[in-house]
This record gives sequence, C-alpha cells and structure tokens, in this order.
Amino acid sequence: MENQGKKMLESAQTLIRKTAEDMELDVEMIKRLIEPEFAHEFALTITMDSGKIKVFKGWRIQHNRALGPYKGGIRFHKDTVREEVQALATLMSIKCAVAGLPYGGAKGGIAIDPKTLSKTELERLSRAFAVKIAPIIGVDLDVPAPDVNTTPQIMSWMLDEYQKIIGHKSPSTFTGKPISLGGSLGRTEATGRGGVFILQDLLAKMKKKSKNTTVAVQGFGNVGYFFAKLAHESGFKVVAVSDSKGGVYIKEGLNPVKIAEYKKKKGTLAGFGGKNITNDELLTLSVDILVPAALENVISEKNMKNIEAKIIIEMANGPLTEEAYEYLIKKTKVIVPDVLANSGGVAVSYLEWVQGKQGYWWSEEEVNNKLKIMMDKAFEAIWKKSLMKKMPLKQAAFEVGIERIVSALV
Ligand code: NAD
Repeated sequence: MENQGKKMLESAQTLIRKTAEDMELDVEMIKRLIEPEFAHEFALTITMDSGKIKVFKGWRIQHNRALGPYKGGIRFHKDTVREEVQALATLMSIKCAVAGLPYGGAKGGIAIDPKTLSKTELERLSRAFAVKIAPIIGVDLDVPAPDVNTTPQIMSWMLDEYQKIIGHKSPSTFTGKPISLGGSLGRTEATGRGGVFILQDLLAKMKKKSKNTTVAVQGFGNVGYFFAKLAHESGFKVVAVSDSKGGVYIKEGLNPVKIAEYKKKKGTLAGFGGKNITNDELLTLSVDILVPAALENVISEKNMKNIEAKIIIEMANGPLTEEAYEYLIKKTKVIVPDVLANSGGVAVSYLEWVQGKQGYWWSEEEVNNKLKIMMDKAFEAIWKKSLMKKMPLKQAAFEVGIERIVSALV
C-alpha cells in the first residue's frame, strides 16, 4: 500500500520550503523549520484479553518549540506511520503559530485500529503509551490531546497513568479531558465550531450569504459532526454527510442531529433517507462548500478533476495532496487551509490549559466567545496577507506561521 503519511510529509515540507525560500530565509533556518527537534519511536507491549502478549508501534514527534511547549494530538489508526506523525507535528507548529498560541508543534500516534481491541485492551494500550511518553511530556514541555480515534476517556487513562508516574496532579499536561477531570466546556465542539466561524468570516469577505449555501461534509466524527451540526444551525444547507462506510445526500438539506441519532441506532448512515452515496461521490457533489473532515489525501490526482465545489474548507489535516492542491488553486478554487480552518480545537485546548493552570473555570459561553475572537483574529491576519501579497490563503497562512516562529527562534 502507498505510504500516505510520506506523501503528506512531503507536501508539508515542500510548502514550508517554498514559502521560506520566497521569504528569502537562509538554508539553515529552513532546515530548522523542517526537521523535527525530537522523534521518539516506541514499542508498546500489552497483554491481550486472551493472555497473549502483543507489541504495537507508537510515536511522539516534537517538531518545534520556538513559541512555547509542544502541543498536539495522539492518533490511533491502523495506517499510522512515522512519516504521518511527523507531517502532523509539522503542521501543528504552523497551526499554533497561525492561531497566535504560545505553543510549538508535536503529534503522537499508535498504529492500531482501536475497533479491533476490547475496552480493557484499549485502556492497557493507552496507559502503555502514557508510560512511554511520561519522560518527554509535561505542562510546560509537551501537552498532548485527542485526535482521530482518541477520546476524552483515553485522555483520562493517559493522564491517570502519567500522574501515577510523576506522583502529583498535573491535569493541564493533557487537554481534551473529560469535564470532571478539568476539561473545558466547549472543547468537544471547538474544532467544528471554529471551522464554521472561519467559513462565516470567509463568506463575509466574499460578500456571500450563508442561507441556502450548500455544504457537503466528509467524516462524521468529532470534527465533521460538529461542523455539520453548527453549520446547519447557522443557516447553511448541509446536503450530504459521510463516514468511513459511505454517506447520504439529501438535496433539500438534512439535519445532522437526526442523522447522528439514526447512526447510533443502526451503526451506519445508509438508509437514513435521500440517496446513499460513496465517499468519492460526496467529494464530487455539485455543492458550494466542500468540507473534507475525515483523513488526509482524500482529494488527489484520482478525483481532483471532478471537484465541483468552489470553496473547500480543510477541516481534516492534509486532505488535499500537493498535486490536487496545485491543480485546484489554478482552477481558482478558494481553499481554506487546515492550519487555519481546524485550529479551533487547539485554540480551546489552549483555553483548557490556561483554565487548568489558574484553577479557574469559564462558562461555555465565555469559552465560545474567546474562541470566536481568536478565530476571527487568525482569519483576518491570513486574509490580509493573502490580499497584500496576492497569494492563496494556504501560502499566506504558512508565511504568517513561519514569520512568527522565526521571530521567536533565538
Ligand atoms: P474522528 O475519529 O472523531 O472521526 C473521523 C471520521 O472520519 C469518522 O466519521 C470516520 O468514520 C471517518 N472516516 C474514517 N476513514 C474514512 C474514510 N476513508 N473515508 C471517509 N470517512 C472516513 O476524528 P476527528 O477528531 O473528527 O478528526 C478528523 C480529522 O480532523 C483528522 O484529520 C484530524 O487530524 C483532524 N483534526 C481533529 C481535531 C480534533 O479536535 N478532533 C482538531 C484538528 C484537526
């Protein structure tokens, strides 16, 4: 199978190199922006329910901490490889800088399909990972969070294991925790909510209205579901959603909450009503806004010529391959890059970290208002740069991010 992580890493590094060269940064500085500061690889050994021992591979890659402690999620996925984790860590450095957060970038991952584990096996694997990363994380050193297939429950196991090792409480070392353990109100919805704020900012600049603007969302997990739900509540016409098994298309618009209830009962989106569609069909629908919110490289040479949407909001990390990005930009598509569009998650993780550090908690409304201020500010800076330098939003975002990181590199 093709190494998708390698492709994603090459795209991220090429973009950094090209942007940094345009900014006339010297060769050694470009290396500092590309090479990860630390790349940790682990063998995680756990006892399965059967009594047998099994070994899994895991990584924590700490890319750059010029702006503050490393920050980044932990992904559990069968196709996770070192290059993917490194690509995601690299994007986190740019994303935190773009969002104006006092963080560097990191990412973690385990090559495992968690659906193949029992709950107790999943707990043992999560705790084994926490043991491995314990010496290299900390509230002012590296702050992990959830990503694909990792949940507040998994964060609570990891935090518990970590606290046993260090011998005292340190809840702000992990974000995306359950509320009862010091999680922030609004964190679960934050990535989707932030994405909808960015979409609204974009449409306001383009002098377009949200009402009846059609949206198709790929991925119905944390990011995709809340993006679809909040877009629907804000007046957008969400016409299609999908998960890994496929999706549904309803021309008149659908209610994501109803679909989520249906999926909970039936385990699938198919059969909800309207037309059952494949993921490839969803991506090529004739809609105004396309929102890939599942995995990387889903828009590639294979389907780029069939993309009809004029606006693409990258809610997943790296959903477009480099070739697809170059092709679609030439076709004058507006592409809002992942490092801006999905930064709402890390923005509220930052708010969770701040609340935990000061032991003082904000209401959900306060958190959402702070998120809106942060997203609007980040969008404005990228939009301005893009207009000023007549460059696409992605390049503008990388330039803003790189400028901020370089200014902090001593
Ligand atoms: P999740 O595990 O909650 O959901 C993933 C969704 O994608 C599920 O609905 C799954 O069925 C679907 N999916 C999996 N494989 C697919 C495939 N081949 N085709 C179509 N759909 C598929 O994960 P998430 O947290 O929603 O993350 C989604 C993306 O957003 C990832 O790229 C992640 O890195 C990124 N992201 C997440 C956050 C966050 O706060 N959770 C923040 C920033 C970026």
